[in-house]
Amino acid sequence: MFCMKKTGFILIFLANLGVIFTAWWLQSGSLLLSSQAGLFIALGRITGLVAVYLILWQLILIGRVRFLEQTFGFDRLSLWHHFNGFAAWTFIFLHPLFLIVGYGLNSQNTFLGQVANFLIAWELAPAFIAVMIFLITIVLSWGAIQKYLKYEVWYYIHLLTYLAIILAFGHQLKLGGDFQQKLFAAYWLVLYLEALCLLIPYRFIKPLYLFWRHEFYVDKVIKENDQTISVYLRGKNLEQFKFQPGQFAIFRFLSFNLIGEAHPFSFSQAFNGQELRITIKALGDYTTKLPAKLKVGTKVLIDGAHGIFTPQRTTNQKLAFIAGGVGITPLRALAESESKNGRDIVILYGATKTSDLIFKAELEKIAITNCRFTPVLSADESWLGEKGRIDKNKIISLIPDYAERDFYLCGPGPMMASLRASLKELRINSRYVYFEKFSL
Ligand SMILES: Cc1cc2nc3c(=O)[nH]c(=O)nc-3n(C[C@H](O)[C@H](O)[C@H](O)COP(=O)(O)OP(=O)(O)OC[C@H]3O[C@@H](n4cnc5c(N)ncnc54)[C@H](O)[C@@H]3O)c2cc1C
Repeated sequence: MFCMKKTGFILIFLANLGVIFTAWWLQSGSLLLSSQAGLFIALGRITGLVAVYLILWQLILIGRVRFLEQTFGFDRLSLWHHFNGFAAWTFIFLHPLFLIVGYGLNSQNTFLGQVANFLIAWELAPAFIAVMIFLITIVLSWGAIQKYLKYEVWYYIHLLTYLAIILAFGHQLKLGGDFQQKLFAAYWLVLYLEALCLLIPYRFIKPLYLFWRHEFYVDKVIKENDQTISVYLRGKNLEQFKFQPGQFAIFRFLSFNLIGEAHPFSFSQAFNGQELRITIKALGDYTTKLPAKLKVGTKVLIDGAHGIFTPQRTTNQKLAFIAGGVGITPLRALAESESKNGRDIVILYGATKTSDLIFKAELEKIAITNCRFTPVLSADESWLGEKGRIDKNKIISLIPDYAERDFYLCGPGPMMASLRASLKELRINSRYVYFEKFSL
């Protein structure tokens, strides 16, 4: 089923690309062999068309479009958004370059002379600003540079791409040679409309609608340990705010000092129709300041629920949950719901020391029925239970029937990478291994 949907998705992508290439070929194909200038102008046109097409896909991929998220998952869509961004970058960069060279050859202008001509005579300054914004955003998204930037700085610069899309739109239908074909111009507008109709309702209207409907607010904040708090949320008609265990949402606390940032957190208890709970570990500046700044009564904007780290995906009746640190949050919700559903569950929970174990008492309570809960501590001499790190040997000894289980993994990146490698060595098909990444 997943393969069929993926193929359908790829076919839609390619079919539209086919329409774009055909329209370009009909209008600009003859330029290709006409002269050197014609060649560059034709290439400039197609790179521009493909650049915009990929940018529209960027909006759809990151637009939290429900049916796409439920098919492919937030992680995968974010990854595609990341790589599609770099592909778009290439075309955005080549588009003005080819046109400057092409029209420069035509009018025997120098490179800079043609740039000036475009800016002044063709009034292309907004399009140039748009190209600059795209280029800066994409350079800043390159892993080696992004890791030195504060996430929020990167995010707000990223938001400028909406401005770039608006700035770039104006010149397309007015100057784009291929839009002399009226049908193609209409098709182009439909592409824009489709992207906006997918982006705006899911990304912007839905969270506002949910807020209007449920009026979420912080009911209490409980300290789980030195670094972790649980935030309980209540609101109106919460029995109608449905989510699956294992899902997450993006939370924006609406107080003066927190409103500027929205962060993703997993629901740490299953749906109960009365309250929501998220559990947050201090891992950076925002999550560190949160315990002191978050006040009871604060209103909350919730964008969600998202994610496919949910029980629907499983094939086997038996499940194995392996968590590292705060990665226990979605697994805690899954354990609660799936033990109630009579599933046979094993939970391995890796942490450094006893005080790092959150939800220990809750998990022990859940473990009374259908569930085995084993904490594994890596640096606690006084701990009498399992010690060390969760690896292949621990999986063999603590989950002897591992071959009969579906695996859910959530923890730090390196831990998940090594667990996935161990499961591969144990010949567990990756179809039975699901994981949630807490950082992109
Ligand atoms: C699907 C998902 C579920 C998560 N569930 C939980 C949870 O239940 N409990 C918990 O403690 N943490 C959870 N996280 C991690 C949490 O979102 C980050 O720890 C938090 O956003 C860090 O923000 P910061 O400013 O304190 O740290 P920073 O140092 O600014 O960020 C650390 C890293 O977190 C990621 N990050 C930061 N801000 C955002 C953002 N606004 N959107 C997306 N990623 C961001 C980036 O990869 C960044 O490199 C989850 C993350 C994801 C993606």
